Amino acid sequence: MSPEFDVAVIGGGPAGATVASYLAKAGLSVAVFESENFPREHVGESLVTATTPVLLEIGAMPEIEAANFPKKYGAAWTSAETRTIDPLGYGDDLHNFGTAEIRFDERDQPGVDRDHTYHVDRSKFDLILLKNAERLGASVFQGVRINKVDFDGETPVVRARIGNRQVDVPVGMVVDASGRRTVLGNQLKVKVNDPVFNQYAVHTWFDNFDRKALTSSRQADFIFIHFLPITDTWVWQIPITDTITSVGVVSQKKRFKEYDGDRDQFFWDTVASRPELLDALKNADQVKPFKTEGDYSYGMNQIAGDNFVLIGDAARFVDPIFSSGVSVALNSARIAATDIIAAHQAGDFKKERFANYEAKLRRAVNNWYEFISIYYRLNILFTAFVQDPRYRLDVLKMLQGDVYDDEEPKALAAMREVVTAVENDPTHLWRPFLGSMRTPTAKASF
Ligand SMILES: Cc1cc2nc3c(=O)[nH]c(=O)nc-3n(C[C@H](O)[C@H](O)[C@H](O)COP(=O)(O)OP(=O)(O)OC[C@H]3O[C@@H](n4cnc5c(N)ncnc54)[C@H](O)[C@@H]3O)c2cc1C
Repeated sequence: MSPEFDVAVIGGGPAGATVASYLAKAGLSVAVFESENFPREHVGESLVTATTPVLLEIGAMPEIEAANFPKKYGAAWTSAETRTIDPLGYGDDLHNFGTAEIRFDERDQPGVDRDHTYHVDRSKFDLILLKNAERLGASVFQGVRINKVDFDGETPVVRARIGNRQVDVPVGMVVDASGRRTVLGNQLKVKVNDPVFNQYAVHTWFDNFDRKALTSSRQADFIFIHFLPITDTWVWQIPITDTITSVGVVSQKKRFKEYDGDRDQFFWDTVASRPELLDALKNADQVKPFKTEGDYSYGMNQIAGDNFVLIGDAARFVDPIFSSGVSVALNSARIAATDIIAAHQAGDFKKERFANYEAKLRRAVNNWYEFISIYYRLNILFTAFVQDPRYRLDVLKMLQGDVYDDEEPKALAAMREVVTAVENDPTHLWRPFLGSMRTPTAKASF
């Protein structure tokens, strides 16, 4: 069978829509198969500035600006307690290690032409990106599920399910952008669950939540991460409109499993560990039912092969503490598109053609992974480094999502050293603050 499209993309979320935009713009024939009908809701509402160059390149930025999403100038972290233990010798410069705040404009970032990014209602944001792909020439099929890709013949055949009908579509190659459904990861049995992270989230939207309730900061339009005095547990606070705020609890899944109550009660009991947060939420109006997300950290033994590439969450998912997901989706699409366009020009979609993509994505996501691991292992260290002039910009670089071109950020190496010192010294003043998740210094091998 001769291919009907150069490239089939499974999933029309941010990763799929972005890769389709790049490929269609370069003149390739692209089909996007999306199982849902957009707009559809999705978790993951706070962007980082590494999304900006991609949104500009694919021409989606004017629509994003016109949507009037709340502008996001930075991020802030609050804590239930004030910690004043000073083993690194900060002396007079010692701040409250439980809290921190960064602004994106403190560091110039290549390709970023503004001091902000956005908090987005994903139903609107994802629709803008999918329409953008269509505008650039991609064929978008909504309500079409891909259950399997047949790789046995000369070219892949995508098995598309439309209602009760199955349609076989021969294509040049396949990009899996199916998110945490990981269609090809499951089919090819290359998915590996993360041995350390097993977090669980319960989230919803509130109207009229007082965004300044937990902070003296004026920056109520930042994303706030509120640490709770429960191990490995935190809350996100993300503005969605002038009055609507997304709030989510992230905790260990085993805590939820052991909990004697339903997910709604789990949310309320968990936020009650910070009474001022509970009060502010009780004074607001919940406008949507609670939703849960689980089992969301994994990697893949293989993210590219003959005639296929995995991007976005379909390639790897690490914990969302630093809002990295959508930026990884967009940037993995950008980097993969470069290799796919070159492969198309060469008339060869063999695995070796995607080596550049695989190397760049693995390096970037491994940096994220280690940064997040260190945060969970010793989060007092994260807030200390954010406030340390020696490391602030390097940490900010990671928080901006600017992780694709360099080797390891120097702050990561320094953080790793401190964690090792604390782990090896039972008398270390920071010892009581060690979290329960281990292997912070080992990069995932997948
Ligand atoms: C609790 C939590 C909080 C998060 N918070 C943030 C945040 O604040 N900021 C951030 O940037 N990221 C966040 N993320 C991550 C973010 O949600 C994802 O990284 C992002 O949505 C990935 O985009 P994607 O396009 O790869 O996948 P998705 O957005 O999931 O898109 C995949 C698409 O594929 C479609 N699909 C699935 N299976 C099939 C199939 N068989 N056939 C056809 N179509 C299919 C789906 O319907 C979907 O539309 C969070 C994640 C979690 C779990």
